[in-house]
Amino acid sequence: MTQTILDGLNAAQKGAVSSEADVLQILAPPGSGKTKTLTSRVAYLLRERNYKPWNVICLTFTVKSSREMGERLAKLLDSGYEKKLILGTFHSVCRRYLVSYGHLIGLSKDFGIADSNDSLAIIKRIVKRHRLKVDAYKTRGRISHAKSRGKSFHDLIQEQLKAKKKDEEQEEFITAFEEYEAQLERGNLLDFDDLLLRCVTLLETHPHCVSNVEAVLIDEFQDTNLVQFDLMRLFASQHNRITTVGDPDQSIYGWRSAEVENLNRMQILHPDTLVVHLEENYRSSGAILLAAREVIEQDVSRPKKELLPTHCPGTIPVLRKLPSAEIEAAWIVSEIKRTRALTGNLLNYSDYAILLRSAALSRLIETAMGRAGMPYRMVGGHKFYDRTEIKILLDYLRVISQPSNNDAVARVLNVPTRGVGDITLKALLEEAESKQTTLWQLIRNIVQGHTIAKTKISNQAEKGLGAFTSIILSLRSKLMDTTQPVSPETMLQSVMKKLEFRLYLVKLYPEDHEARWANVEELAFQAAECNFRVSSSNNDDDLSSPIKDTLPAIDGLTQDSGNSADEALSTFLANVALASERQQEGDDDEESTSAGQVTISTIHAAKGLEWPAVFVTSVYDKCIPHSRAEDTDEERRLLYVAMTRAQALLYLSCPTKTSQREDATLSPFLSEKKVRKFLADQGPSFENDTVFEVSRIIGRKCPDRRHIIIATRDLKSTGDNLWPLDGTEAGRRKWDGNAAELSPQKVAKRQKMTGVPSV
Ligand code: ATP
Ligand code: MG
Repeated sequence: MTQTILDGLNAAQKGAVSSEADVLQILAPPGSGKTKTLTSRVAYLLRERNYKPWNVICLTFTVKSSREMGERLAKLLDSGYEKKLILGTFHSVCRRYLVSYGHLIGLSKDFGIADSNDSLAIIKRIVKRHRLKVDAYKTRGRISHAKSRGKSFHDLIQEQLKAKKKDEEQEEFITAFEEYEAQLERGNLLDFDDLLLRCVTLLETHPHCVSNVEAVLIDEFQDTNLVQFDLMRLFASQHNRITTVGDPDQSIYGWRSAEVENLNRMQILHPDTLVVHLEENYRSSGAILLAAREVIEQDVSRPKKELLPTHCPGTIPVLRKLPSAEIEAAWIVSEIKRTRALTGNLLNYSDYAILLRSAALSRLIETAMGRAGMPYRMVGGHKFYDRTEIKILLDYLRVISQPSNNDAVARVLNVPTRGVGDITLKALLEEAESKQTTLWQLIRNIVQGHTIAKTKISNQAEKGLGAFTSIILSLRSKLMDTTQPVSPETMLQSVMKKLEFRLYLVKLYPEDHEARWANVEELAFQAAECNFRVSSSNNDDDLSSPIKDTLPAIDGLTQDSGNSADEALSTFLANVALASERQQEGDDDEESTSAGQVTISTIHAAKGLEWPAVFVTSVYDKCIPHSRAEDTDEERRLLYVAMTRAQALLYLSCPTKTSQREDATLSPFLSEKKVRKFLADQGPSFENDTVFEVSRIIGRKCPDRRHIIIATRDLKSTGDNLWPLDGTEAGRRKWDGNAAELSPQKVAKRQKMTGVPSV
């Protein structure tokens, strides 16, 4: 079995996987197999060192990467053993600790999670109520920054007292921070930073909670913040066995308080840390690595490192300037079609990724893809959980699970319409806040006649409040009925029934109610999956059972299991919140065709991933580096991360007019002569053996050469390989002139392929 775990690893990787060292840090460039090595080490510890999976904590940066790691482990271990690991993101693992042991620090078990939208809504209200001049959006960022450095508003008050000068803006910020914390507490809510901070408090005061933990392993360590560093120390406090992997050249979350210095801090905390370097790159072609290296080496303060290709040089990366953002989008679409055809469909749509500096840049690309009928999935864009119909249902479930959640109550109090207008709602919210009670409690008191509201309420609105409370109360009593525990799915169905939700959608959205109903069904499916997870066996020896939400029982520490229906519902809601944890994780839509979907993603969200073909778009000055970015070196690293996602084909493109019709010039990171030497200005023609090289790099059988010849001939006859080879107006005229000589069918075919209409 060791054989299979160590098979296919190089000597340095094998050494790291089987190292006897307690504290290990793997520092290595992109594509050198860090994640692969970390995963193999987990398998090795379980299989060869007999660590029990429920005593091993394994932390990844995104939900997607923890799922992938679970899948890789399943293949390596073939035992279902990996399902027992404490595997997830920092946030999800901390939540599990707080659900199991939070009572030890006075946290009630049914806490809810305020996601970033909830936090913003709360802050906006505070800013308004206190007539603050600070910007709500920036304030949210500052609060999160303070929290991720482990600072509370009390600390900031102390700092303010010590400061000699009066700083009005800082005072306003502290007021907003203090009020924000009070409101979270009243609503029994934790935001994402709190999940980490409270877990630190828990483990500092009750280290016994992690007495079972034998090893802690962390991927993407260069992007951890100070609180996460503390968590690493605390999780491992019993045995101090830690493996981290990271790459300082890929630290791209400094703007969100990540501290690349954590790599050094770890070595200082554990002077016996064994540092392992990996130098061979298994991901990208030699030509891609050369270009990427030229970019990162512009940072002269950075120590020089090896990045040795294991693949052939392959095709030269392309740098393309295009006259406008629209043409850039059309060019990408046509280049995908062209390279697929020219490689005899060696590449599927799912082998392509289009990487953006920010999600907002996706619009034109989505339009071009839509026009060409090319399937794509957007990562980090409009998310499943942001869809109106989904938000309404989830908010009802949130209110039923936790009526103290003011924001959820406020969002659905008048949905469907019940005559409670915006003005009344705002006034009620303010009244609740000034009385330091929850909106739910205030409404109940009004309905029961215990309170005469300060807010003026019309008869119709009063009826509406009554209807709302009666729905929530009846569903809540169903949830609390211990004699007949209901699953999250049943709860969801009951909400829909009470609201006559299908009819509501038909009335409100006559045009697309069916698509919306399909989303609702998808949500019901997810809820049903959660039923299965939560009601599964609690027996640690049963290795075939799915992942448990709570942690293994530790004598005298674990809470009573409580009401299982209530717990199942809050687990479902927490999973939803954590899945939309960062604006970076896309919907996991089923692939729509056998050729899959092109991925459109932000560069940040593409971290750790790889694709055979990658387009990095809008590489112009003020976009990369971004005009608002404070750290130019971090922006350069971002481009480096983007380029190193590509295995065989890499395209960099720069429109000379942005989508806002502003003039743009090429990013300084690419304008140097030295870099340009490693870039071509046209995509590969595949007329020589490059297609065989591509297939070797991506580890796929090369298609029959005859297909390729036919595809080349077809493209030539339709003129598709002429557009938009130079992307200039002259090129376009040539293309259109060429179109005049073609039959209407061929013009239509070409238009379909490229998405570019003739003028
Ligand atoms: P990043 O810094 O981008 O996260 P990484 O260092 O984590 O990259 P991995 O994702 O683990 O790199 O590996 C990159 C690719 O190289 C993967 O496809 C992996 O399967 C492959 N790979 C890693 N090590 C080897 C090896 N020894 N032999 C063959 N392929 C390997
Ligand atoms: Mg990795």
